[in-house]
Amino acid sequence: MPGRMPSALAFCTALLLAAAPAPRPRVVVDPGHGGAQEGAISPDGLLEKTVSLDVARRLKAALEHEGVEVLLTREQDVLLALADRVTFANQARPDVFVSLHLNSMPTRRLRAKLEGVQTFFLSASASGEDARRVAETENADSAGAAAPLPSDTLAFILADLRRSEAHADSARLAYAVHSRLVPASGGSDHGVQQAPFYVLTGVDAPAVLVEFGFISHPEESRKLARPEYRDRVAQAIADGVRAFLAQTAVRDRRPPVASSTPP
Ligand SMILES: [Zn+2]
Repeated sequence: MPGRMPSALAFCTALLLAAAPAPRPRVVVDPGHGGAQEGAISPDGLLEKTVSLDVARRLKAALEHEGVEVLLTREQDVLLALADRVTFANQARPDVFVSLHLNSMPTRRLRAKLEGVQTFFLSASASGEDARRVAETENADSAGAAAPLPSDTLAFILADLRRSEAHADSARLAYAVHSRLVPASGGSDHGVQQAPFYVLTGVDAPAVLVEFGFISHPEESRKLARPEYRDRVAQAIADGVRAFLAQTAVRDRRPPVASSTPP
């Protein structure tokens, strides 16, 4: 029985891929909030929008050091609608999208108790009560913005999930980042979770939202104020992104094994 011969097109494509230098991967990093939208706040008055921008800059430096091209959705402390972040990301056509945020708890008791890290990818429904709470908090920035949430949010998200081939990759990206972030942070592991985040819904690339700490926790917020801790967090996220990009490159550039030996 004859073996399956690859098509001439597949053969040529494989040869071209083998000969051409690998394209430089591109990552869009999205520092949460900005301008009048300050995000969460620490007991000492440290703002989520400030820490997320600083860690984004450190993440950019860490990834650029590894030859990755990095674009930030905002470079400064400016207001940027969630819809504009999505538009920016899709115009850039990145290989990966990472949104950076900090968690916060509403009550004094919970603020004193909860610390640690959590990584999300998009889902039509939240993976639990806690995931739902985080998504509602982060989605609040879209209220009153130029592009409000669609009236039928669930239908919009489901349609988007069907469209998006990147969903399984987003899950893989989330685990790659989270597994490195937990030991680097030294904080509690709140797991990889899924929730309907507005900023992730329209992004075509594999996308995650990282809650890299609880800014409402007294001790953790003091850690988050330290430059060397921010570097450690940024490096861990960069390592996860790089591992994901490496896996994806191997998967998407299969060598022409079947055509390398003439019959
Ligand atoms: Zn946030």
